[in-house]
Amino acid sequence: MVVVGVTSYFNWRDNALALRMTYVRKLSRLGAVPVVIPPDPSLDVGEVLERVDAVLLSGGGDVDPRFYGEEPRRGIGRVEPGRDELEIRLVREAFSRGKPLLAICRGIQVVNVALGGTLYQDIELEVPNAIKHRWIRGSEFEVPMWYPVHWVEIDTGSRLFRILGTRRLLVNSFHHQAVKRVAPALRPVAWAPDGVVEAVEAPHHPFFIGVQWHPEAMDDEYSWKLFQAFVDAAKR
Ligand code: MN
Repeated sequence: MVVVGVTSYFNWRDNALALRMTYVRKLSRLGAVPVVIPPDPSLDVGEVLERVDAVLLSGGGDVDPRFYGEEPRRGIGRVEPGRDELEIRLVREAFSRGKPLLAICRGIQVVNVALGGTLYQDIELEVPNAIKHRWIRGSEFEVPMWYPVHWVEIDTGSRLFRILGTRRLLVNSFHHQAVKRVAPALRPVAWAPDGVVEAVEAPHHPFFIGVQWHPEAMDDEYSWKLFQAFVDAAKR
């Protein structure tokens, strides 16, 4: 039995843990058992990692810019107190232990910050000539979540390319932040047409990949390939 720990967020209004079911269903369909990791900074991440075979970082709000040494600027959105601390420690520990990790949307940003990189606090305000990456305003989706809106170009020397078998991929896009300075231990492996980094990976790690899009919400062959490769890595 393969157990995948999936990070979640706290819904303050309902005083409840929350996680989109699409993450859970993709894992279940591939025979993995998803377990929810609450955004509780008092958790012992070492103990958590003893009990899961892999970690999936789910999407969510913005990383507090203090974690990459910046003051909040005008474009910053909702931040999630507690979740940042927990996920940053989880990423560092999974990285040093060689534990398979797949990071999605907010996840790629957390991974980059945890390992010493920085973020654009708001693409529209900080990246000249950027394409439209934010297809959601507040909680209002402007396209169905599975709908791809832009291309990414994938580095043919990357693990991501070996998994997907394509150098061009259509992806969905529900983000307003992005990786800026890439963390030293990571390398960028996919880019949007405006140069925004859409995927990173750790070259010497068994499986350590972050993507800026939402493969869990898509149903194309490439999204399944990525999740299958992740679950396969968790089995080893
Ligand atoms: Mn995008």
